[in-house]
Amino acid sequence: ANLCPVGAIYEAPDWKKVWKMLNSKEPGKVYVAQTAPSVRVAIGEEFGMEPGTISTGKMVAAIRRLGFDYVFDTNFAADLTIMEEGYELIHRLQNGGKFPMFTSCCPGWVNEMEKEWPELREHLSTAKSPQQMMSSVVKTYFAQKIGVKPEDIVMVSIMPCTAKKDEITRPQQLVDGIKVTDYVITTRELGKLIKLKGIPFVNLPEEQYDNPLGTSTGAGALFGVTGGVMEAALRTAYEVLTGEKLPKLVFDSVRGLDGVREAEIDIKGKKIKVAVAHGMANVKRLLREMKEGKRYYDFVEIMACLGGCIGGGGQPKSLDPDILKKRAQAIYTIDELSVLRRSHENPDIIKLYEEFLEKPNSHIAHHLLHTHYTDRSKAVRKAQKQKETEKVN
Ligand code: SF4
Repeated sequence: ANLCPVGAIYEAPDWKKVWKMLNSKEPGKVYVAQTAPSVRVAIGEEFGMEPGTISTGKMVAAIRRLGFDYVFDTNFAADLTIMEEGYELIHRLQNGGKFPMFTSCCPGWVNEMEKEWPELREHLSTAKSPQQMMSSVVKTYFAQKIGVKPEDIVMVSIMPCTAKKDEITRPQQLVDGIKVTDYVITTRELGKLIKLKGIPFVNLPEEQYDNPLGTSTGAGALFGVTGGVMEAALRTAYEVLTGEKLPKLVFDSVRGLDGVREAEIDIKGKKIKVAVAHGMANVKRLLREMKEGKRYYDFVEIMACLGGCIGGGGQPKSLDPDILKKRAQAIYTIDELSVLRRSHENPDIIKLYEEFLEKPNSHIAHHLLHTHYTDRSKAVRKAQKQKETEKVN
């Protein structure tokens, strides 16, 4: 029951809001969905399919049948993130920026950093997450292309993660005063909507994403698994810095499910030390050891969930002990089967820069695709102290 007279206490879960919205669509509004890299390798489990099944085409078909006008691929935005973050890394390397540089696409990690490790604020890449890059591009570039106002687009993200729901409410994520992502639903919530609508998921045809924000590379797909952002960034940073093709695309040393993994990459004589950590216990251990001076790296990828987004809190629950391995394998298969495997080769990304963003890290790219972080440690301590006092009293 809704006990609060202004409805502030009781909030309908997001899937209910999205369900209601799609069943009472307003004329003149455009309904857009985007799907994160790890959703396609897990959603099938909601319908009894084998863990590790890649259901991209059926997922796109199901989302269309729910009533969305456009279905875009967050993998496209992951490619865009690599362009912005990769060039930021190159810029820091060439101009002596803050090191180590940390990835910034996991809002679980961003929250942890702001609350517990605020001294690292300037070390995080300023690149927004793929979810927020996609929504920013949809409400500007795409809105202009189809001739609608940004406020007439309703943007729904389908994510593996509950922290993504919180990310969209951050004031520094607004673009020109507009909230770019309107709703976030998890993989499980998507499953609920598809079942509620009676859509026969398993028997659906394979459908394609819409364009121009639906083309992606294998590098973008890798964002779904721990180590993937690092691997994707290295593919681009190496080739941009050297002007040469990578001799081997796969970076085995950053793959796998060990809690912390490290590697040294030789980029034309310059050695870059990188590390990957996933799961908060591993992340805290790595950060403590870095703080104590026991470890040093140039570039670090952090994911709050074990396995990265394939193990996100909004993914289907599974009793399979190998679930992370199976979902990770599916992500690697998507990369292997991709015709394009480097973010900087994505033709629609190249076009987006040509038509709209000019170049990576340009003024407009910064305005739309980058963010900043705050020190929330004092507020957290204050709240903890207050709680303790309340307990004593
Ligand atoms: Fe969300 Fe977890 Fe992925 Fe971070 S690792 S973005 S918290 S699902």
